[in-house]
Amino acid sequence: MISPVPLSDSIYFAPLLPWQNELWSQLTKRVLMPQQSLPHALLAAGMQGMGKRAFVWRLVAWLLCRERVNHPLGACGTCESCQWLRSGTHPSLQVLPIISMPVSADNAYAKEAASSTAKDKKSAKAASNAALKIKVDDIRALQPFIYQGGQGMRICVLDYAEQMTIAAANALLKTLEEPQAQVHLFLISDTPAQLLPTIKSRVQQLALQTIEPTVSIDYVTQVLGSTVNREAVGTSAIEQLIQLANGAPLAAVSLAQAPWYGKRALWLTTWQALRSGKRSSIAASDYWQTQLSISEFIQLSELMLVDMRRVCLGLDALQKDIDLSASLSNYKPAESSFEAFINSLQQTKIALQQNVQEKFAYDKLMQELAYL
Ligand SMILES: [Zn+2]
Repeated sequence: MISPVPLSDSIYFAPLLPWQNELWSQLTKRVLMPQQSLPHALLAAGMQGMGKRAFVWRLVAWLLCRERVNHPLGACGTCESCQWLRSGTHPSLQVLPIISMPVSADNAYAKEAASSTAKDKKSAKAASNAALKIKVDDIRALQPFIYQGGQGMRICVLDYAEQMTIAAANALLKTLEEPQAQVHLFLISDTPAQLLPTIKSRVQQLALQTIEPTVSIDYVTQVLGSTVNREAVGTSAIEQLIQLANGAPLAAVSLAQAPWYGKRALWLTTWQALRSGKRSSIAASDYWQTQLSISEFIQLSELMLVDMRRVCLGLDALQKDIDLSASLSNYKPAESSFEAFINSLQQTKIALQQNVQEKFAYDKLMQELAYL
């Protein structure tokens, strides 16, 4: 399996995602034309897995590149500016929140993959959540950089812009109201509804949200075709992945590569065995602990619940490759059963952040699954 987290510098020089070609050419033409320039503040917003971060980092690299006139399709990768980016020391780029490197791929799965390599997953995850906050002092610290004047373009990127505190947002507002020549601000947000309306009204949103279904299918097929057996991933399997990922191609790829995605039928078998009493919750817990980490099991369970609810409401299951309707034919749960189990999943996530033992959490979750 290929890690969804690219090398630290490849985010600047990765190939353009196919559904972003048009926007790329519009923006870059605008920059290269005399008397024209980019808006001072741009917002890349929308759900995870659409490639908005990939687009922003690539554009940032190109804007800073000394050779951009000769390389309209992306930063040259070799000039002084591109070398600074590679070494993470570009004097004309400031990034908030302050973490050691920008989160590279445009999805949460990448963040999780990155933190799961750390020795202590839980503390790494807790730390990464805390590090995402953007405080007023962080915005104030940008001011000298923004107002220093001088030659050449300067760029600030505010990732997870919705994580700004109110005070930080107000401080930023002031900056947005006083555009400085040669300074560009990029805001990135997965949940733009949480941004202050006054901020949103002063930034121009990049059109990154719409992707033609055929473009998505081609992209996911191509990416997965190079990492897994093409026979095993047919067109309907690709369509299913995209649907489960709400149309976000990068999220669909992460889903296919998630260790739990292939264990959906097994989850169903376990659930049925637990309900019928053929298997004890302790035995199920012991078994699943050898299969998946509990956070993976939670992601799997969340996906299964979405589809179980659909089937119980009389809708078609999104998953066509496992026989949910047959498994649920005599199943008439109260809506409160779903609520209770979703609640258990949430409680487990919180417990894990508080360093509850994984085995203990697994045991408890399996007990509750038996009553779903
Ligand atoms: Zn360059």
